[in-house]
Amino acid sequence: MRIYNTLTRRKEDFIPLEEGKVKMYACGITVSGEAHVGHGYQALIYDVMRKYLEKCGYNVTYARNYTDVDDKIIARSKETGIPADIYAAEMIKKIDAVMAEFEVDDPTLWLKATENIDNIISFITRLIESGHAYAAPNGDVYFSVASFKRYGCLSNRSVEDMLDGVRVENDENKREPADFALWKAAKEGEICWDSPWGKGRPGWHIECSVMNYKAFGEQIDIHGGGRDLIFPHHENEIAQTESLTGKQFAKFWTHNGLIKVNGQKMSKSLGNSLLLEDLLKKYTNEAIKFALLSNNYRNDINITDDLFPEAEKHLTEFYTVIKAVEEKFGRAARVTPKSIISSTPIWTRTSTPRLPFRSCTDCLSRFPQSLQRATEAVPKTFGR
Ligand SMILES: [Zn+2]
Repeated sequence: MRIYNTLTRRKEDFIPLEEGKVKMYACGITVSGEAHVGHGYQALIYDVMRKYLEKCGYNVTYARNYTDVDDKIIARSKETGIPADIYAAEMIKKIDAVMAEFEVDDPTLWLKATENIDNIISFITRLIESGHAYAAPNGDVYFSVASFKRYGCLSNRSVEDMLDGVRVENDENKREPADFALWKAAKEGEICWDSPWGKGRPGWHIECSVMNYKAFGEQIDIHGGGRDLIFPHHENEIAQTESLTGKQFAKFWTHNGLIKVNGQKMSKSLGNSLLLEDLLKKYTNEAIKFALLSNNYRNDINITDDLFPEAEKHLTEFYTVIKAVEEKFGRAARVTPKSIISSTPIWTRTSTPRLPFRSCTDCLSRFPQSLQRATEAVPKTFGR
């Protein structure tokens, strides 16, 4: 099997760290608001990847996280008057419910930032002791980017280039502009925990390093997330973890494309966010998944007004064809789009199992075309 690796920018043979086993982590949702279609898409991609690996015979441990403390959650808590921890817990419940309706399965492990504060504090302490991080006088703790020579290895850019493209807060607590926060001192009234550096809360990037370390140890096979996370989030995860362990963190870095709506980036500020809950009121989960998977997972998806109605039309055609096949050959021939999309073991239902795809990326990119070919070919074959 070959998987595209962002780290090396090519497809590589997949050889797991431990024979027969896969350790896989995908960055989850920051629960500052309800799940939009981009969240659903990412969860779907890694659910399919996990299931495909399982079909290939691997024993997969798949972990996802919830970022349940963060600037945006604190801002929402202030706006609504709901304490930040209660706000986050309620949002997680809502997101879980909509994902269940979308029929994306739970990972093997669910991890939450707020359940790992002690682990985060001890991880940061070790980074300070080894000279990779420093506590600022105000109680913040920063990672020293200059201390990690491979910084930029994932996004393939120099520190100067990276700083060029992002807004860098002019913060006198940092030694260098590129340094990033591992721990943030609490402001008045904010949710916080005690630490050796005073009351505060973890930065975003450190959570994923720590939760990976806790769940899997020093190394994992596959780390996934949206392409927008390559820099700075994943670059920073690599710096934190590899500074601590001295080993390569993830063997494969995989990144899914992003969602656009009518050609525009989807964002709250543009007011074009499509909530998964609203889409599920209009379309079946199968049609939404079919549309979202009708593209290579590394490409962006442009959601136009026609995308989901078209998908529903194709599925109806597909079921019509399946019905015709069943009438001719009986139910043994039954293969549904749902069985493919949710990756139930369609090939184990036949007496001669045959994997239709050569690799994960092929799996994600080719099956919609296969379905389409099937819908076109079968009527010809069976004289409809
Ligand atoms: Zn992450």
